[in-house]
Amino acid sequence: MDRIALLDNLRERVGAQAVLSPDDLAGRDPGWDTGNLGAAALVRPVTTADVAKLVAWCREAKIALVPHGGRTGLVGGAITGPEEIICDLGALDRIEEIDPQTRVAVVQAGVTLNALQEAARAHGLEPGIDLAARGSATIGGMISTNAGGIMAFRNGVMRHRVLGLEVVLPDGQVFCDLTRVVKTSAGYDLKHLFIGAEGTLGIVTRAVIKLDPLTGAGATALVGLNDAASAQRAIRYFLAQGGTSLRAAEIMWRSYALTTSRALGFTPGQLPLDAPCLLALELAADTFEQASAALESGLAAIWDEAQIIDGLVANSMQQAERIWRVREDTDVLYRLHPRAPSFDVSVPAGAIDDYVARIQADLKAIDAGFAPYVFGHLADGNLHIVFNVEGPLPAATNEAVERVLYTDLSAVGGSFSAEHGVGRKKRAAFERYADPVKRQLAQAVKTIIDPEGLLNPGKIVDPAS
Ligand SMILES: Cc1cc2nc3c(=O)[nH]c(=O)nc-3n(C[C@H](O)[C@H](O)[C@H](O)COP(=O)(O)OP(=O)(O)OC[C@H]3O[C@@H](n4cnc5c(N)ncnc54)[C@H](O)[C@@H]3O)c2cc1C
Repeated sequence: MDRIALLDNLRERVGAQAVLSPDDLAGRDPGWDTGNLGAAALVRPVTTADVAKLVAWCREAKIALVPHGGRTGLVGGAITGPEEIICDLGALDRIEEIDPQTRVAVVQAGVTLNALQEAARAHGLEPGIDLAARGSATIGGMISTNAGGIMAFRNGVMRHRVLGLEVVLPDGQVFCDLTRVVKTSAGYDLKHLFIGAEGTLGIVTRAVIKLDPLTGAGATALVGLNDAASAQRAIRYFLAQGGTSLRAAEIMWRSYALTTSRALGFTPGQLPLDAPCLLALELAADTFEQASAALESGLAAIWDEAQIIDGLVANSMQQAERIWRVREDTDVLYRLHPRAPSFDVSVPAGAIDDYVARIQADLKAIDAGFAPYVFGHLADGNLHIVFNVEGPLPAATNEAVERVLYTDLSAVGGSFSAEHGVGRKKRAAFERYADPVKRQLAQAVKTIIDPEGLLNPGKIVDPAS
């Protein structure tokens, strides 16, 4: 089918308003990856039935479909080829229900995390998951990458927040399991197949999300320490205290904190950054004053034991925001080093300092100029590693880098992909570092559900041919 016939055909089937041509897409923000919008067309369905119709059309036309949410994914899961069609879930943006009694939200897939957080807040509730891309990342995208973020150490990852799911399958059927309860042991809990599947097994259209009560007012501190082990001591202390709850515990090694704070225009005196490791903490209590006081007394209590070098409890919203911007405005790294290679690993708690020291040394052996920025969600062992060079790396160098970063991780109980997924960028790593039996099973599942490879081809795994 030529391009004009394809667009006409699609418009007839799913509605003229909802179909964008490659010309319409030119100049639009592609999101985190420039390859996201290289499609034959972008379709914006508004209902689950529209999605099912689109899938049926694609199956007949033998054209592959790539689901898109907010396009904030970091592993190329939304990259779309010129022969493929984007299914953009952005118009499925209704929060259908917030039920304060059962503490659940029923949402369409295109609802942003921020929109759900705001709607839940009006009822004194929260979705229990948070990440810096909250303004654009959608619930459907977060389910599909099994996103983690800042609060995973206390509330789990997306998989633990999803109670029910509606998914359009590659054969056009709708898998509908909108369960609203935590407990269901009625056979295989198949919704979990689609969580973290990155749109390769089905298109998520609706979800039931578990909500938790908001934990009061939060106060923020920035603490300078010698290493991750000392930071973990501080975290354990605050986790054990009654009357307060630790909401975030983010680590930044010195070069990351200095680089982002400098790029953001903060002067050296504004934040205490002169330590090998910086720990940003958010502690919640009934009032801001109580939270601040608990942070201050807590830091004083563990100052010697954790060998704290310096510390600051933010006394204004502005100061707290500054601390969180240093941690969350990661895009400044990519402005300094365009397309900087980035990696996202999980390392068990006791192994973090050794891991960071080892990779820094081994990476230097590959290239003496490699001095990656390291930061992440310390309380659950998730480290982000962003290189101080322009990307992409030549294939052989990238393979050597992955060998340094990933070898032995699963043997010690970690993961080569903590929360970003596999997408296209980690596909080779999936083939090299995932358990072979897991890979076989993954391919068998893909082959059963999507034998023709209609959904998001080239990501995670292809069906057996
Ligand atoms: C600044 C920044 C900070 C981030 N911080 C974190 C963090 O702390 N923790 C974390 O886990 N992640 C983080 N991320 C990455 C994270 O993966 C995404 O933010 C989010 O989970 C993806 O949501 P999205 O709507 O943007 O999905 P997209 O990027 O649009 O898509 C991601 C993948 O999901 C698929 N997909 C999207 N929607 C659907 C759907 N409805 N049905 C089926 N498949 C679908 C796509 O095909 C693709 O494979 C961060 C990203 C940025 C840019």
